[in-house]
Amino acid sequence: MVNSIPFLDVGAAYRELRSETDGAIHRVLDSGWYLLGKELESFEAEYAAWCGAQHCVGLANGLEAIVLGLKALGVGPGDEVLVPANTYIATWLGVSYVGATPVPVEPIPGLWNMDPARLEAALTSRTKVVLPVHLYGQPADLDPILEFAKRHGLRLLEDAAQAHGARYQGLRIGAHGDVVAWSFYPGKNLGCLGDGGGITTNDPELADRVRVLRNYGSRVKYKNEVKGHNSRLDELQAAILRVRLPYMDHWNARRATLANQYLQGLRGLPGLGLPLVLEGTQPAWHLFVVDHPRRDALQAHLLERGIQTLIHYPIPAHLSEAYASDRDWGIFPITEAASRTHLSLPMGPHLSPANVDVVIEAIRAFQA
Ligand SMILES: *Cc1c(COP(=O)(O)O)cnc(C)c1O
Repeated sequence: MVNSIPFLDVGAAYRELRSETDGAIHRVLDSGWYLLGKELESFEAEYAAWCGAQHCVGLANGLEAIVLGLKALGVGPGDEVLVPANTYIATWLGVSYVGATPVPVEPIPGLWNMDPARLEAALTSRTKVVLPVHLYGQPADLDPILEFAKRHGLRLLEDAAQAHGARYQGLRIGAHGDVVAWSFYPGKNLGCLGDGGGITTNDPELADRVRVLRNYGSRVKYKNEVKGHNSRLDELQAAILRVRLPYMDHWNARRATLANQYLQGLRGLPGLGLPLVLEGTQPAWHLFVVDHPRRDALQAHLLERGIQTLIHYPIPAHLSEAYASDRDWGIFPITEAASRTHLSLPMGPHLSPANVDVVIEAIRAFQA
């Protein structure tokens, strides 16, 4: 093996900002205050401002952001939530955890986001919320989804766990829908050094409800208004995120440069599908996902050359052991085909353009 190109170098962001990060960590350690303090308050204000949202509430992880977001919207047993058929299973689990039912909707091939034209057919009298995911960092087509939600009196919760900094019609993802759910898992575009998450919203009441829900349902200690969760973004993680946030635009710009390099270098190869970019959007390029009818052979070919790739996602949620027996889900041909053909190429702000060229050449050699 001549190369060694990891899918993502998760430690690189720490190495780049080592002294700033160490300083922030020691500031928290010395403060003697580790939960619900100044670091979290400051991060919430800074992240909301960066996203163009009025409010941010830091939470334990991205799954909790979906769960508490849905609870704040009043979703519960008997309700249905329209979700992408193709997404990370957390989107579905969030719906299940509040006792509601996920109703899968197929994506637009190439964009891989919820197809607005398919929403009508999935609507029932029980539908409460539309929950698009900005999958792989590509913004979902929010205008027609918002229009559909408005027309049917539904609320909109966005799963933006992969879309930090992405833009739709010029505006950053963060407040198009009623609630936007974020993950700060280490491998995301904005990641901390453990688990983290949050919501953003322009609705002060929804922000308040999530704030109460994250802390045992209490505003004042031992006075519990609702049956809440323990779901707090801790001071250490908030301090680390504050160090990283100012670098996000720069890191996302590097991702965009590498994505363009892939798009140019891989253009016109027979059988190879490249990601579509919806007009008027600026993806966050969390992942660079191609599709190929001989995906497994292509993955093995790249691995032989020291290039690590991943599959997002090999088993659609409705076919997973967790959900398959819940009911007869029917078939989702686009999603099922995608699980057999998708391949995520190395991507990240610390990947070098030279290594992207190596990946491009290796894929061209496979095609030849
Ligand atoms: C990562 C992710 C989540 C869950 O975030 P965690 O912080 O890992 O709980 C939810 N939805 C999508 C689309 C994700 O990629």
